[in-house]
Amino acid sequence: MTDTCLYIVSTPIGNLGDISARALEILQSVQLIAAEDTRHSGRLLQHFCIKTPMWALHDHNERAQADKIVQRLSKGENIALISDAGTPLISDPGYHLVRKVRDAGFRVVPVPGACALVAALSASGLPTNRFAFEGFLPAKSLARRQRLEAVVADDRTLMFYESPHRLIHSLEAMLEVFGPERYVVMARELTKTFETIHGDQLASLIDWVKADTNQQKGEFVLLVHGAEAEPETEALTPEELRVLTLLLDELSVKQAAALAAKICNSKKKKLYQAALEMKSSD
Ligand code: SAM
Repeated sequence: MTDTCLYIVSTPIGNLGDISARALEILQSVQLIAAEDTRHSGRLLQHFCIKTPMWALHDHNERAQADKIVQRLSKGENIALISDAGTPLISDPGYHLVRKVRDAGFRVVPVPGACALVAALSASGLPTNRFAFEGFLPAKSLARRQRLEAVVADDRTLMFYESPHRLIHSLEAMLEVFGPERYVVMARELTKTFETIHGDQLASLIDWVKADTNQQKGEFVLLVHGAEAEPETEALTPEELRVLTLLLDELSVKQAAALAAKICNSKKKKLYQAALEMKSSD
């Protein structure tokens, strides 16, 4: 280990007052700042009168830039990594860089600060003792539904990042998979002028979002209450088990349970619960 280091510096997610004194000191004193978008971060640095040179480091050039950054660290230079907003590496570039820098034997030092997921969770009113961050849901509807089905029985608070143009699609997919009564909190434009933190059962939340286009603008964190403990599941008959197993190979949990219930003349809820358990133990 040498004294030279890569600092992972968090920047504000909206309100510039959220930058820390330590972050400013480090951004001022390092020899180089690697930034996701130099034009975007240029405005932040200008606001704080920081003139440190910048390099672009984004998803498309991260591996090549990481090699060059390791070379600069080898010359004894200290470097800071920032992203467009919040904490680098959290749904942002930097993972390959951090791996490479650590493997090369240099220190990687976190300089903590704003992070949308932690800010949203802290003010959501949802349980914070155990939570799961799922990042952005996939853009394609089948993949999105499958990702949600994989966590439907999870009893931790579930957290998702979302962009305005996919907000309604994601909420509707959640409605389909989690059902209308699951409690969801939408945290929008945190630390900014139109900050809104609104929670309701999914069906009502969707009506509320659809009724006001202002609520569809900006940046979002969606927080879903974890699954409530289900009452003991009724054991499946051998026929129900055979049909459900076959259908689950081809269909979604919801479709397989509905069809199996029809074929076996059984209760849909019982088969749905069993299907969820079979999927989560795959
Ligand atoms: N690294 C960032 C962090 O620490 O939160 C996240 C970067 S990710 C590319 C951008 C996403 O974070 C947005 O689409 C939104 O889901 C969430 N986000 C960022 N700023 C936000 C804000 N002010 N309010 C709500 N969500 C925000």
